Amino acid sequence: MTRLSGRQHLARPRCGTAPLCLQPVLLRGRADYIDGGTGELIHRYTTVHEPGGILPIACKTRRASRCPPCAEVYRADTYQLIRAGLTGGKGIPATVADHPCVFVTATAPSFGPVHARREKDGRVLACRPRRKGKTCPHGIGLSCGEKHARDDNRPGEPLCPDCYDYTGAVLFNACAPELWRRFTITLRRTLARQAGLTAQALNVQVRVSYAKVAEYQRRGVVHFHAIIRLDGPAGPTTPPPTWATLALLTAAIDQAARAVNVTTPAAPSLHARTLTWGRQLDIRPVTATGEVTDTKVAGYVAKYATKAAECTGTLDRRLTPADRLTDLPVRDHARRHIAECLRLGKISQLKELRLAAWAHMLGFRGHFSTKSRAYSITLGALRTDRAAHQREYAISAGLQPDLDPGTTLVVTDWHYAGRGHPLIDLLAPTGGVPCPGS
Ligand SMILES: [Zn+2]
Ligand SMILES: [Zn+2]
Ligand SMILES: [Zn+2]
Repeated sequence: MTRLSGRQHLARPRCGTAPLCLQPVLLRGRADYIDGGTGELIHRYTTVHEPGGILPIACKTRRASRCPPCAEVYRADTYQLIRAGLTGGKGIPATVADHPCVFVTATAPSFGPVHARREKDGRVLACRPRRKGKTCPHGIGLSCGEKHARDDNRPGEPLCPDCYDYTGAVLFNACAPELWRRFTITLRRTLARQAGLTAQALNVQVRVSYAKVAEYQRRGVVHFHAIIRLDGPAGPTTPPPTWATLALLTAAIDQAARAVNVTTPAAPSLHARTLTWGRQLDIRPVTATGEVTDTKVAGYVAKYATKAAECTGTLDRRLTPADRLTDLPVRDHARRHIAECLRLGKISQLKELRLAAWAHMLGFRGHFSTKSRAYSITLGALRTDRAAHQREYAISAGLQPDLDPGTTLVVTDWHYAGRGHPLIDLLAPTGGVPCPGS
């Protein structure tokens, strides 16, 4: 099997834990390993010996809805990265666990009453019981006494879709990343004010590190979960000053989150709106034991890093000009969000929000998981570690010669040969159509 060697620079996972990608990119071609000193060809890898003459390369998506095995690699890496920022490891000292650190959930405001599945102490509660049975202008009752089951589709859907503020919902999704950015700036200013320092003096003493993940609520709006930590000036390796306490961090987050807003531009058919976080702001200290532990928080953030807007019943892809809104296989609540994105997308004053391009995401075009530079190690560092580990494995298993990367030149010639699983095509060359004679 020595002919398989040479794949390693493609970083295709090969050892025992390798995932089998469901939608790999297929390549044809070769890689020549040349001695940089003598020009001699030391080793050649070519795909002609592979099944079907093609080499599958993992898609490496983070989206569990697209390729569960690749998303699992992303989830596991994110877990490692988040956990290292909470308890140390992977080059981060264990003393980071002593830094003030909280888990924050910043939600969106209400855009109208929606059905909800409520639970308390393991019991399901009535959705929205109201003694005075008010109705909306469309004659729909604004009370719901049902105890929605887990498989009920209604939670997240508005009691009256015609009253629901779809404009506000998609504008919030579109502006949520900017609202977060302003929050992080305001948080630093608030900390400085509370400590009686100027912004520059604060930067010399304290660094605010965070890692955040976006999650869609069933009602179709994003909210953010974030780990926010105070470090010394050099990041997680240095302790913050003694005045930078958990209480100070909590108070500053509360104040900053309630102070920030984003105002959307006015247009002839649309008034300007001031968007803020919702009233539900949750700030909890991350501890080694108890309700919000480092393991739970890391698991939670890593899980949501592999998701997009699936739970809202929207599309898993961009809209194309060929799509007809009425034919899309989506929930009506998602369809109304998409329609609103397409409508607002035509307003020139809102051009920068690119609402039409992000209609399938109900207006949100931000990253699902982001972190500040000094939060922890990076995903790239974890991938480099893994590639090195795989290279060692390949060399020790005799799959690849042990060449000095400092003096070996690799000349590659690759051609795109399609997408999908090559073995499926090889096993079913007729494409699954039964033989007419059988
Ligand atoms: Zn994949
Ligand atoms: Zn209900
Ligand atoms: Zn109504």
